[in-house]
Order: sequence, then C-alpha cells, then structure tokens
Amino acid sequence: MNIPTNIEMGDDGLILEFDKTRAYLYPYKYLRLQCPCANCVEEMTGRKILNVNSIPEDIFIVDHLEIGNYAYQFLWSNADPCSTSGIYTFEMLELLALNDRAVKKIL
Ligand SMILES: [Zn+2]
Repeated sequence: MNIPTNIEMGDDGLILEFDKTRAYLYPYKYLRLQCPCANCVEEMTGRKILNVNSIPEDIFIVDHLEIGNYAYQFLWSNADPCSTSGIYTFEMLELLALNDRAVKKIL
C-alpha cells in the first residue's frame, strides 16, 4: 500500500500525490459518493444506501484529518454526517485512482 506523499484541495477536487511521481484529481462530489461508511453503504450486503440527490453538486472538502497513517477523514462543506463517519483508506483511494475513470491522472 502506498501512503500519499501530498494532499491538496484543488478548485475541482481533491488532489493526491503518490510516490512523489503520480498525482490524481478526485472530483469532490464523486469522492463524497464513494464514502464507505454505514450511512452510505449497507454493512451486510455492501449495497449503496446513500441518497445521491442529497449531495449538493458544489460540495467540497473544507479540511481533512489523517487517521493512523492509513486513512483520511474529510470535513465536507455541507455539514455532512459522513464528515465524522467516513473513513477513506489510502488503499481505497489508490484503487479508485487506478480503476475508476472518474479519477483523473494529472501527473
Ligand atoms: Zn458516509
């Protein structure tokens, strides 16, 4: 697993750099929709239960917290409960970058 070497809040999304050589842009709303917490994903089945329409188009990240050197928690602009329940592991973020076209490689 790679630990991000830099994190930045860009105009259009979160920018994460890995290995000081690769950087990816995660659009904010997209990233919010990936929240893996129990409010968003049913624990037993993995089914998404988040109401996508409840997320503002212009949502962004106000601040972030690093958790135990393995994950980030994001403070969302709309006082979203997932600001305290959503844990985005570095592993998950890198997998999204490598596998989901919604994440743009910018470096
Ligand atoms: Zn959530």
